[in-house]
Order: sequence, then C-alpha cells, then structure tokens
Amino acid sequence: MIDRPTQNPLTPLGPTALAPFAEDPEQGLAKIFGFSSFRPGQRQVVEHLVDGRDALVVMPTGSGKSLCYQLAGALTQGVTLVVSPLIALMKDQVDGLRSTGLPATAIHSAMPRAEQRRRLEELYVGDYKIVYVAPERFQSRAFCDALEDVEIGLLAIDEAHCISQWGHDFRPAYRRLAQVRQRFGDPQTVALTATATEQVRRDIGEQLGIGADDEIVGALERPNLYFDVYFAGSKEDKLRPIKALAERYPGESIIVYGATRKQIASVTRELNDANIDAAGYHGGMPADERRQTHQRWMNDEIPVLVATNAFGMGVDKPDVRAVIHYNIPGSIEAYYQEAGRAGRDGNPAHCLLLFNRSDLRVHHWFAENAFPLQMQVIRIWLHLCSLGPGAHDYTPTSLARAARGPGQKLPPRVAQVCLRHLARAGHLRYGGGQVEVLHEVGPLELNIDFSRFGDRRLNAKAQLGQMIDYTRAQRCYQATLLDHFDSTASFGARCGHCANCDANQ
Ligand code: ADP
Ligand code: MG
Repeated sequence: MIDRPTQNPLTPLGPTALAPFAEDPEQGLAKIFGFSSFRPGQRQVVEHLVDGRDALVVMPTGSGKSLCYQLAGALTQGVTLVVSPLIALMKDQVDGLRSTGLPATAIHSAMPRAEQRRRLEELYVGDYKIVYVAPERFQSRAFCDALEDVEIGLLAIDEAHCISQWGHDFRPAYRRLAQVRQRFGDPQTVALTATATEQVRRDIGEQLGIGADDEIVGALERPNLYFDVYFAGSKEDKLRPIKALAERYPGESIIVYGATRKQIASVTRELNDANIDAAGYHGGMPADERRQTHQRWMNDEIPVLVATNAFGMGVDKPDVRAVIHYNIPGSIEAYYQEAGRAGRDGNPAHCLLLFNRSDLRVHHWFAENAFPLQMQVIRIWLHLCSLGPGAHDYTPTSLARAARGPGQKLPPRVAQVCLRHLARAGHLRYGGGQVEVLHEVGPLELNIDFSRFGDRRLNAKAQLGQMIDYTRAQRCYQATLLDHFDSTASFGARCGHCANCDANQ
C-alpha cells in the first residue's frame, strides 16, 4: 500500500500536470512536439479524441500512432494512462516525451520496488500527465488502489492486437483490460494497432466496447517497399538471395527472420563464412547479450541481424533496407508487420520471403499440437490423478506412454503441451521433472475451454493457408497483402514495382 498524502486545502492535487498543455491540436503539435505538420491520419484521430469519443485506430507501423494519444492526452484534463506490452517500448516513449516537457513516466516490474512506489506516489499527487504501464500492472493492488483517486482523462491501449486471440501476439493480461476500463469508471479509451484484420478489429472493439463508428483505419500501403517471393529448392539455395541483398545494400541494415534458434545459429554462421557481418538474436539469449546485439545493430556496427520474431515490436530503425523471411510466417498479419520494419524512412527497401515446402512442417505441427485434443488432455489428467497425491517424477515420454490408450497417438511433445494447459488452468504445477496435481476434479470439471481449442486450431490453419496463397499470387504482391486487410491502395491494383508487377509488365 502507498501512503495516501493528506490533502492540503491550499494546494489541490496535481495542479499543473492535470490541466491541458495546449489549446488546440495545431498549437500542441508545434509547441509540445515541435512538429510542423501532421502525418496522414494523425489529425483525424486527435480531433476524434478531443471530441471526447473512443477510437480504435489501425495505422501502419511508423505512421506516428503514439503522437495521436500523446497529443490528445496533452489537450485534455487528467492523466493519460498508456498500456504498452514491452518495457523497452515504454522507455523509448518516456525518454522522447521528457524532451518535450510533458511530464511522463513508466511504472514497471523491471525497476526497484522503491522506485515503483515513488513514481506511484508522484502519479497520485498529480506530477505526471502521461504514465506508461504493462497490462500486468493492473494485477497489483497498490497500483489499482492508488489509481482509484487519479483522474484518468484517457486510457490508451497500444499494440491493441494483443487483446485478440486471433492476433499474432495474444497476451492474456491484455484481455482483462475491458474489466480494467470498467473498474476505473469507463474512461475515454483509444486502442491502437498497426495490424488488424476485420476479425481482430471486431474482437478488439467488442472486448473494449468501441463501436464500428469509432474505428479509424488509415492507409496501410507502403509504396516504397519491394515485395518478392523466392522459391528455394534447398537450404543452400536460401543463402544465395540473402547474400545478393547483402551485396546490394553493403553495410546497411538488414533483418533476416528465422524460425528456430538452431536456424538463427546456422544462418549467422554461413553469412559470416561468406564475409557478411551478421549477428544472431533470439529470446533464449541472456538479456545482456540480447541488449548489446540490438544496440550494436541500431548503431550500424553490425549490418545484418538474424533473428527470431522475438526481435520485433518496438524495433524502430528507420533505415532498414531489407527484411528477409527465411521461413514462411504463420499469418499474413505477422508477415506484413515484420516485413513492414523495412524502409520506414520512405526510401526503397526489400521484403523477401523465402519459401520451401518443407518449412510448412513446423507450422502444421504447431497448428495440430499447440491446442491438443480434449481427449488427450483428459487422458493425461486421469493418469496424473491416478498417481495419487504429492509430486511425481515424469518425462514427456514416460507421461505420454503411460497416458496413451491402446492404438492411440500421443506424442511426448503433445503430452507436454497438455501439462501446460492444465497448469495454466490451475489444476497442477510442474517443473524440474516433477508434476503435482493440485485439486483432483473430474474430467468434465476441468477449467479449460475446449471449444476454443478447436477454433484456434482451425484459425491457425486458415491463417497459414492464406499465407501460402500469398506465395502463389500471380498479381501485385502488395495489393494482395492489402486486400487481406480490406485496405485499398491509392495505387490501385498494381504497386508497379514488386516482383509480380515487374514480371507482368
Ligand atoms: P507507430 O507507433 O505508428 O509505429 P511511432 O508513434 O513510433 O509510430 O512514430 C514513428 C516516428 O514518427 C517517431 O519517431 C515519431 O517521433 C515520428 N513522428 C510522429 N508524428 C510525426 C509528425 N507529425 N511529424 C514528424 N515526425 C513524426
Ligand atoms: Mg507504436
């Protein structure tokens, strides 16, 4: 709990921070942010918010979505509370805001408790106009208690596709934001994302109670990007186009996305063997090393970064000249978001997808097994309950063998996925080679929504299917991608410079 400051009748809470910082959007844009003009779409969003309406904003990466809620927040009374998925994202934004003179801060789990507490107290007394938090922050009692008495002028939910399980970065804590909104008196809310299909958009809107009238969908086209698909006959065959792009853009920034850590290591090595300066990046690296690698790439010390999709959200390097996918991603959404990291400076850049049919195996495996069949979960559960109370040693293989019925399939990796679902639902805990049932319940009482498993499995397959269709497109690649988002391009049916447009001249 924080100590609530006793109110002094002569100094009302938060006299400066809570008042508007500018009179109108134009003045605020120039005075606070020092920009001379709005980028496409920004004015519409800011005016919509200043009118007091909610908004669901879909605008491309790099289009300046942050400014929309920052400026709208600065123009209204109260604190703007920004929900952001990554601490690194918060830090960049807060540093940027500090230089504008808007009092901003972030409160997150990576800072010492005393510091969290200090900032919370400062928020409480009105020292901040904009505060960034992760969605998990609302699970903290102290935070919610303090927030009860804070005037929230605007709730901004950044990277809002994390709300939707149909999106590609689903985060359970995002899903609870609808309740959070209610709890804090239904403040004006803006949700922002770069990538949302009709389905994800509707899901976000429904979750948060933002109607179709309040959707603002900006143009998603990226006229400076050159899209291409290369059908590789073999692994060696995939290195050729990577080397060609590295030679075309010598010493300039390139991202190569790979699927697995093993792949990251081997591609990095092969590029280095070919005298191309490349470094690997994946979620399993120690945080320090990851940060260092990221930094060296940002500083142009290493041009080529070979990364898993752990390298992503918030990567804001304007001069990336190529984004190469070593494997086919699982959805068009994920592809357009990742490829869209190229050419943010508006100069020509390449988006190349390398395709080999055997790459589909890992996706099919995932679609089949990330959401196991109800029967498989129940078999595992019944087997574990039969072991009796206490912790039991297990390996995925022993578990699968013991739980599998005669003539049935239950691969060890699936057994492990079943454990994860059971643990998430609070029925057991596992770790260190041991598993323990917490409360024995009947199979029909399991707190798992199996009906959703089927949907999500089908959804994953459908999304991959669309991605495969993309590789086979005969017409303009960019127009094909934009169709997926129901977005029409100003260039019409042909961007005029992708590999297909080139071929169909
Ligand atoms: P998004 O979240 O849409 O991907 P950001 O909000 O991170 O994009 O903005 C990308 C960059 O554009 C930032 O460096 C920001 O300072 C810059 N920017 C935003 N709006 C403007 C503007 N009106 N004029 C010039 N630069 C802008
Ligand atoms: Mg953003």
